[in-house]
Amino acid sequence: MPYDDSPPSPESASSVSPERRWFARRSGLAVGAAVLAPTALAGWVLVQVTTGAGADDARPPRIVMPAASPTDGAAATPSSAPAEGPAEGPAEGPAKSQSPAKSPLAGKTVVIDPGHNTGNFKHTSEIDKKVDIGTNRKECDTTGTTTNSGYMEAEFTLDVSRRLRTVLEAKGLKVVLTHQADRPFGPCIDERARIGNEATADAVVSVHADGVSEGNRGYHIILPAKVKGGAADTAKIVGPSRDLGERIASNFARTTGSAPANYLGSGTGLVVRDDLGGLNLSTQPKVFIECGNMRDAKDAALLTSPEWRQKAAQGIADGIVGFLGG
Ligand code: ZN
Repeated sequence: MPYDDSPPSPESASSVSPERRWFARRSGLAVGAAVLAPTALAGWVLVQVTTGAGADDARPPRIVMPAASPTDGAAATPSSAPAEGPAEGPAEGPAKSQSPAKSPLAGKTVVIDPGHNTGNFKHTSEIDKKVDIGTNRKECDTTGTTTNSGYMEAEFTLDVSRRLRTVLEAKGLKVVLTHQADRPFGPCIDERARIGNEATADAVVSVHADGVSEGNRGYHIILPAKVKGGAADTAKIVGPSRDLGERIASNFARTTGSAPANYLGSGTGLVVRDDLGGLNLSTQPKVFIECGNMRDAKDAALLTSPEWRQKAAQGIADGIVGFLGG
């Protein structure tokens, strides 16, 4: 299925121009300096940098504070000027703005794992091979489900994952997909986990849709259980993964209007599992999301809609961003 890319509108950058706090006039300064010079300026050096004509009003004098701060600094300062002048800059240039606070998202990495692979059904012998998930051995991967009309779960997961990547990259996050129609099958579930681990991802989300009987509807998030065995040890990720999952659940409900699954999770939209290699082998905060039931006609109508998938991606992204402090 072609990728219907609907990039989100760019974030409105909040650019607040630096407030001009100085409107010192030459004449006023001259008087002020004359008055202050014998006494108060003992502890201050007032340097008037203005030399050009015409722009004087807009440019403050530069006050250089000596090593020892005066106790009467405020009184010695002309008008109500702050003690620190603007940074040095070209005489005619605008005041330099402060560098913006570092975004909490800066330098963070999200790994998105599109569940299954559209080629898996052609490679059943390879994907049926068992891999070690620490607590057990399990098939490398599965084909996933389809809607009754044949829309594959693997198509759905890749499409939502790409949309999700677009939204997250627009937020400045580094995004890695575990695959993107660039391999004939897989990756195996242990490799999917390893990709998140080796990226030292700050959050990992595996995207799926369920395949249960008609009438079962809604989304649910799968959280890692506390497991230990072989290479599996989820003790450190259970807590943060729950936080990540709860944030995704609430945001997904908001953006899509979908309800938590009516067939498991007791209406919370959250389920804890200990049998998924992709969770058991993860060392990074990770959840799965089952976005809906492909075998239910009403859910399928949503899952096959590009507009709905964009909402789904937005909700997942908002949950991730909230988890990362953005
Ligand atoms: Zn799946």
